[in-house]
Amino acid sequence: MALYAAAAAVLAGVESRQGSIKGLVYASSFQNVKQLYALVCETQRYSAVLDAVIASAGLLRAEKKLRPHLAKVLVYELLLGKGFRGSGGRWKPLLGRHQARLKAELARLKVHRGVSRNEDLLEVGSRPGTTCQVPRFVRVNTLKTCSDDAIDYFKRQGFSYQGQASSLDDLKALKGKHFLLDPLLPDLLVFPAQTDLHEHPLYQAGHLILQDKASCLPAMLLAPPPGSHVIDACAAPGNKTSHLAALLKNQGKIFAFDLDAKRLASMATLLARAGVSCCELAEEDFLAVSPSDERYRQVQYILLDPSCSGSGMLTRQLEEPGAGTPSKERLHALAGFQQRALCHALTFPSLQRLVYSTCSLCQEENEDVVREALQQSPGTFRLAPALPSWPHRGLSTFPGAEHCLRASPETTLTGGFFVAVIERVEVPSPTGRSTGTRTYTQPSPKEKEETANSSSWS
Ligand code: SAM
Repeated sequence: MALYAAAAAVLAGVESRQGSIKGLVYASSFQNVKQLYALVCETQRYSAVLDAVIASAGLLRAEKKLRPHLAKVLVYELLLGKGFRGSGGRWKPLLGRHQARLKAELARLKVHRGVSRNEDLLEVGSRPGTTCQVPRFVRVNTLKTCSDDAIDYFKRQGFSYQGQASSLDDLKALKGKHFLLDPLLPDLLVFPAQTDLHEHPLYQAGHLILQDKASCLPAMLLAPPPGSHVIDACAAPGNKTSHLAALLKNQGKIFAFDLDAKRLASMATLLARAGVSCCELAEEDFLAVSPSDERYRQVQYILLDPSCSGSGMLTRQLEEPGAGTPSKERLHALAGFQQRALCHALTFPSLQRLVYSTCSLCQEENEDVVREALQQSPGTFRLAPALPSWPHRGLSTFPGAEHCLRASPETTLTGGFFVAVIERVEVPSPTGRSTGTRTYTQPSPKEKEETANSSSWS
């Protein structure tokens, strides 16, 4: 299916509540998932503007065979995007006949609303400076390049580098072609919210990963040293896996599981593009992965980022009104799975550290899941205090919950997110040295080094 027809089909599906943009994009037969996703999101963002322009230009009255969703995608490309891709097929001449009128209607709308830029036409909630806008975060993929080289590339392209930000206020003030290094996370560049880098050559070549800052926290806080063995329990589409591989410098092993074959297929493409070579992908239910399997004997690190309500996701809230408040039944079902997955992960015999994360803001999927899992393994695992300088902490629903991190557009200028770092409790050995509670394996030199350096990630 061609890009524009595929985008129109996704928009129609979202409108008739067949699924979310992400779900329908993955279910589409169109190969380039990122390209399709970007086009649909942008068209959806400008939906009200496009409806107004199409109506006042009389496009659908004049072109009776043109379906409304396709018209919206095409007019987005013509007026607000980068113009038709490739030859534009048969749509280019059709839209060409209406181009002057459509442009005039867009100009008229701007005059009417007293604005000069296209983005100023966006509805409240999609406009810069309102709660839904967060900067565009870009993780430099250190398997392929380094921050200095990426920064130089952008400077040569006319972007102006402002150095490392010192506070969130610096991020809030970003505009135009300015960009920064994040104040807290390494190798994370920050651009103004409207910056679209989906077509950027460094992104296309896998040197950059477009990833929200909050979603970079799990791998960073898990901090597996190069050479270690890691499980990514619910891994697709793989942004966090590629981050883990970068931290491992491709040395060691990542066992990545997911149930969804389609998402795994896109993940394989993403990992290949990002230069990841230390990852084994498996289409498997994590709950059925045996902790006593010899293959996982050395696994000391687990990242668990299970399916969740997505109530913290900005795009989700924009595309599905009400997505921010999932029903009690749905929350119950999700929390049940998250609970089982976390308890299962904690039974891996060599596990030292686990990061549990969701893009949900619901206590039931976050603090409640963590508290319950810790209660089921008393004295064996505890919450580690993560990133003390992070301003938004876990809800105080049990002692120590403030060790968890929360994120939101208002407090951290990111999507809504939750992260908990759980580590094995160290018990003094008879020799007076500190070891893990397991007595069947000696800590490796890397593990000792990691324990000694734990303040570097907490
Ligand atoms: N960590 C991923 C990333 O950063 O790109 C996002 C993971 S997404 C929130 C949750 C994933 O869990 C989905 O891809 C879903 O298919 C997968 N999943 C759900 N149940 C699972 C199970 N029982 N075992 C393995 N994966 C599962």
